[in-house]
Amino acid sequence: MTRFLSNCPRCGYVAEAWSEDGVSVQVRCKMCGYEGRQPHPDLKNGAWRVG
Ligand SMILES: [Zn+2]
Repeated sequence: MTRFLSNCPRCGYVAEAWSEDGVSVQVRCKMCGYEGRQPHPDLKNGAWRVG
C-alpha cells in the first residue's frame, strides 16, 4: 500500500491519501472530514485504460 499526501478536493488542505490498487487513491482529510476515492494522480490522461 502506497501512502502519500494529496490536496483535499473539498477544502484544499493537505490530506492523507493512499492507494490500494495503484489505479485509484483513497483520500481522507483531517481538516474537513472528507473521505472519498479519486483517480491516482500518476495515472491521468487516459491511463485508466492501461492494459
Ligand atoms: Zn478537506
